[in-house]
Amino acid sequence: MTEPDHSLNGVERRGLMFVLSSPSGAGKTTLSRMLVAETPELQMSVSATTRPMRPGEVEGRDYDFVDRPKFDAMVAAGEFLEWANVFDNCYGTPRVPVEAALSAGRDVLFDIDWQGTEQLRKRAPKDVVSVFILPPSVQQLEHRLHTRAQDSDAVIRGRMKKAGDEMSHYDDYDYIVINRNIGLAFESVRAILRAEQLRRDRQVGLASFVSAMRQQLER
Ligand code: 5GP
Repeated sequence: MTEPDHSLNGVERRGLMFVLSSPSGAGKTTLSRMLVAETPELQMSVSATTRPMRPGEVEGRDYDFVDRPKFDAMVAAGEFLEWANVFDNCYGTPRVPVEAALSAGRDVLFDIDWQGTEQLRKRAPKDVVSVFILPPSVQQLEHRLHTRAQDSDAVIRGRMKKAGDEMSHYDDYDYIVINRNIGLAFESVRAILRAEQLRRDRQVGLASFVSAMRQQLER
């Protein structure tokens, strides 16, 4: 019998909400892309944002880029699972694609800040698994922000200033990964996801799976 990829154990399971947060420049975007590329049952949640598109970004892949009136209308219509103001721009997670993925037993990856994580956790405490990525040092953080070459020096200075505040929220998260080496950090994040997928209470098909085997054994 061929099982769908997302069932993992061959048993029906409930999808989980996998959140990666970090100060910008800690490697979260790279880790998210690697994880999605290697995990067929995981889909990325694409947020809406009012911030301008950066060079190299693609509409619909990195974000849904919207203006402020459109964002406000989406908030008013209840289209977001969570939304927050980050670095003076608005960011929000559209509800419909997430609910569709979870109900199909797929997992959803969120690259959102601590405010969004808190909102998701309040809504669905059992379904959220949160990971905070820390940079190995301030020097590395600054270096990564500069080599990314997406932001002006003034923006980078602003982001460095805010990194300290963002980091202070590490203790709201379930797991902490320090990204000294992208390969090792990726292995850690992947191990966390796999272990959480295998939690007994997420494998909702276990009772019938085991009872079918027991019936066969009793025959
Ligand atoms: P950036 O502008 O660098 O893409 O993202 C800035 C921050 O906004 C990052 O910490 C990112 O995780 C966060 N962010 C992106 N999308 C969302 C979202 O939909 N909701 C929340 N709360 N934060 C988001």
